[in-house]
Amino acid sequence: MFGNNSAGVETEINRLVPKSLNVFVWRVKRRRIPVRAELDKRGIDLDSVRCPMCDDSLETIEHAMILCKFAYEIWVRVYRWWSFGNPTNLSIGEIFNGVGNNIRGEVGKEIWQVVEWVSGYVIWKYRNQKVFQNKETAIPNIVNEIQVKSYEWISRRSKKLNVEWQQWFINPSSYVNGAPSRVGIG
Ligand SMILES: [Zn+2]
Repeated sequence: MFGNNSAGVETEINRLVPKSLNVFVWRVKRRRIPVRAELDKRGIDLDSVRCPMCDDSLETIEHAMILCKFAYEIWVRVYRWWSFGNPTNLSIGEIFNGVGNNIRGEVGKEIWQVVEWVSGYVIWKYRNQKVFQNKETAIPNIVNEIQVKSYEWISRRSKKLNVEWQQWFINPSSYVNGAPSRVGIG
């Protein structure tokens, strides 16, 4: 459910996503994902503390999730998909606790939160793919995975919302501001 921020984020879960994603978010908020800067702090010997995606900066949680040009490009495309402006001043707190973007209504907030959480999860997944398999995936395919995964989870678990794939893909914002205008499915 969508928790009360002032009561602390500790108990916040989103019932639309699997437990594994709730656990991932819980870990990110407590800075318990193994980015290189965190491993280094704990005395683990690493060849490099730089970001494996861009090799340009220290890999902090903020860098891996937001500031890296790889991650940021994904946020830009997710925001564009939702017809929001470019993401500015993104923070871990805003992404994983938060709302923003003038989304009103409990259902809308909950589904936008799913999109943000899935985006973070998928960014981390592809970072790990690069580290452990030295494999890269094109950004449009990654964004598509975010669209598909969020759709599957929301449509499977939301009782309040009947999400149509085509509408979800073309104009997801319509689901957060009242009834969506229908599009024909060929
Ligand atoms: Zn980077």
